[in-house]
Amino acid sequence: MARTVQDFSTIGTPSSDVTGADAASADVAVIGGGIVGLGIAWEAQRAGRTVTVIDPAPASGATFAAAGMLAPVSELHYQEEALLELTLASAARWPEFMASLPAEVETGFNTSPTLVLGADPADRKALADLRDVQLRHGLDVVPLTIREARAAEPMVGPHISCAYRVEADHQVDPRAMAGALRTQLLRSAVEQGRTEPEQTLVPQTAAGLLHAEAGNTHSAVTGVQLADGTEIHAREVIVANGLGAPQLAGLPEGLVLPVRAVHGDILRLRVPAHLRPLTTATIRGLVRGLPVYIVPRGDGTVVIGASSREDGSAGVSAGGVHQLLRDAQVLMPAVAELELLEMTARARPGTPDNAPLLGRVAGLDGRDIAGLIIATGFFRHGVLLMPIAALVARQLLGNITDLAWQPFRPDRFSPTLKPADSIGQHSDPTDNQHSKENP
Ligand SMILES: Cc1cc2nc3c(=O)[nH]c(=O)nc-3n(C[C@H](O)[C@H](O)[C@H](O)COP(=O)(O)OP(=O)(O)OC[C@H]3O[C@@H](n4cnc5c(N)ncnc54)[C@H](O)[C@@H]3O)c2cc1C
Repeated sequence: MARTVQDFSTIGTPSSDVTGADAASADVAVIGGGIVGLGIAWEAQRAGRTVTVIDPAPASGATFAAAGMLAPVSELHYQEEALLELTLASAARWPEFMASLPAEVETGFNTSPTLVLGADPADRKALADLRDVQLRHGLDVVPLTIREARAAEPMVGPHISCAYRVEADHQVDPRAMAGALRTQLLRSAVEQGRTEPEQTLVPQTAAGLLHAEAGNTHSAVTGVQLADGTEIHAREVIVANGLGAPQLAGLPEGLVLPVRAVHGDILRLRVPAHLRPLTTATIRGLVRGLPVYIVPRGDGTVVIGASSREDGSAGVSAGGVHQLLRDAQVLMPAVAELELLEMTARARPGTPDNAPLLGRVAGLDGRDIAGLIIATGFFRHGVLLMPIAALVARQLLGNITDLAWQPFRPDRFSPTLKPADSIGQHSDPTDNQHSKENP
């Protein structure tokens, strides 16, 4: 029976086609169905490739917890200038990425501004110092009086010390976005005429990479071996499984992927009807030096986050929850009247320089290993950075190397792996922006 566009009921559940001994195949296999893997898969698919996303529990990792702030300006950290270039480029790409999805798709993408608030005088000083840095980078951060801030958002508490408006920092709902991308991947596979569209989302665990020469992890990557032994053959494999990436078998010998778990506690609360909207802008604040934010969702809930801890504990921290509720109430006292719906903890995939591990990997001869792209280590910014990660992957799939993204090469922490010329084998130093793709 021909599958119709609406007939998705059986897709995404294990099928004999993908769990049997026979190998499946796609142009691009993506390991990991978090926001990054799904975004990359969608970009590759809309460039005309068949894709297979492998994940036993899509969007259950950091994506499940994320607040979804798209905030390159208010999240600027000292000494992260290279990362700023990437975050700004990705923020600029969000509208274009959204335009690639049908208009009716629910993603929570919202271009309302961000209000940045300080609680005490020390917070005011810290935010003023940060604004100096933001202005030096040409970023727009507008000081408001307390009266102006409360006029814009009447639920802001009266005892704050300072306020700024950041017009450029927006938000999306990562869970809704991930769901929309999965639906779209399946719909588009059907429209592409893929004979087995269920192979677009394979609900299994990837065990490792397949190579052209067995035992030679510097030979071309030709596919993925699943935990049950099934093989998925692909011309290109994208490793996008967050903190799980270093555990994959068959990664190039010498490749160091230094991702570490930075846990965050985060809360979902319902705003009672008489308090709606609690806020229309995203509220970010410093309260006695600790960051806290309140992100409004279209369904009358808000997200309050997030703690940051490296204690290795995957459960929700009582201290983290206490701190978030206490500090959020300083910025918006009505938070005390909300209904607590959910407490979640997940780990951000942190890296030593807080920047992602994104791109191809050099083999021992200095040439990039064919068929392999890494996209992990997105730390605090994976949602924000998804569209640029998707673009970089699409360029690499088309044999295009943009020199701007070389600082994020995934082999930069691997002393034994050095690209032949510090810019990668495919690079052409005379042409920073190749425009032609070779599918
Ligand atoms: C509390 C909190 C708040 C955050 N807020 C924001 C925010 O406001 N804005 C922002 O930009 N970022 C935010 N982040 C960061 C953001 O969530 C991450 O950077 C982003 O989710 C990383 O996406 P990912 O797809 O790389 O990883 P993940 O979302 O962790 O997804 C990895 C996927 O890989 C799968 N997987 C793992 N191993 C395997 C395997 N062997 N085979 C197959 N699949 C596998 C997992 O099931 C998972 O679905 C926040 C993070 C946290 C924890």
